[in-house]
Amino acid sequence: MSKQWQGLIKEYAEFLPVSDKTPIVSLGEGGTPLVYACKLSDALKNQVWLKVEGMNPTGSFKDRGMTVAISKAAEAGAKAVICASTGNTSASASAYAIKAGMKSAVLVPDGKIAMGKLAQAVVHGATLLQVAGNFDDCLVLAQELSENYPVSLVNSVNPDRIEGQKTAAFEVVDVIGEAPDIHVLPVGNAGNITAYWAGYREYFDKSFAKQKPAMWGFQAAGAAPIVDGAKVDNPETIATAIRIGNPASWKQAIAARDESGGLIDKVTDDEILAAYHYLASQEAIFVEPASAAGLAGLFKMQKENKLPTGKNIVITVTGNGLKDPQWALAGAEAAIKIPAKAEEAAIALGLI
Ligand SMILES: *Cc1c(COP(=O)(O)O)cnc(C)c1O
Repeated sequence: MSKQWQGLIKEYAEFLPVSDKTPIVSLGEGGTPLVYACKLSDALKNQVWLKVEGMNPTGSFKDRGMTVAISKAAEAGAKAVICASTGNTSASASAYAIKAGMKSAVLVPDGKIAMGKLAQAVVHGATLLQVAGNFDDCLVLAQELSENYPVSLVNSVNPDRIEGQKTAAFEVVDVIGEAPDIHVLPVGNAGNITAYWAGYREYFDKSFAKQKPAMWGFQAAGAAPIVDGAKVDNPETIATAIRIGNPASWKQAIAARDESGGLIDKVTDDEILAAYHYLASQEAIFVEPASAAGLAGLFKMQKENKLPTGKNIVITVTGNGLKDPQWALAGAEAAIKIPAKAEEAAIALGLI
């Protein structure tokens, strides 16, 4: 008997819109680590876990939705898929399209894609269109193309994406044994907060959990349409994965916030970078900047005396740090140059 995780469709088939007729397109996604964060728990006076979604096959949670979306597209006989992307959706779509034997086309905002994500789309052979515009323009274009040409849209407006992504909430409950009191995550296009809330609700309704968490979402201050209550025409943040001015799942995010008794707030790029360095230097988890927005939000709430204590808190860290390493290197000290001699190395290391 194989003990390897089977990929989330096989593991959670009964909760997903699949049947025996669905060709399962999987790269083993899901089953990501829920890591107990010791120092963070002390610092925040709560029990804090990190759901490390950068461990998915292409390095972000997007793979959860993509395995379902591409499997359903394959079932429907699709030969090509299209998406708009700030980077991770294109990395995921291009990989799963290869696995399914489909062509993929991705629309990305010109010049605003992290290098690692661009490399993924290129190496998987996606047709890459760099659009003179931002993510929101790309999404409108992708929707138009899918309505008028023979390509399937695999953005999170595709309900199969949300279905796949909700399994992350199942995994949290399956590991802790109960839903947390608070679930924290970054919010960009707002598909993920919608998906987690759907997952927690479903597990509660089916009696796999006795409670539902408060959903706490955080946007970047320069791209915070939900917090500010208005579209942002020129969203700006270093956290490119949440650089979105008109979220597709805006209404669903508000519903998740209100039904769960949660909140959606914003954090500055400086707060995001501080949380990013905290995760790497204190908890050994290297994420991309957008992924640190949730923790940045918790630090902000603590500073404002709005953070309860003694609660179970899960933070989703959404993507792998290697995708966008420039922020790790920015301002870092240069390596110490030495000749290949043990004594010189010992001196440089302060051992003698
Ligand atoms: C897509 C993405 C987000 C934002 O998720 P939404 O579903 O768009 O709100 C956050 N972080 C990373 C790393 C992402 O790839």
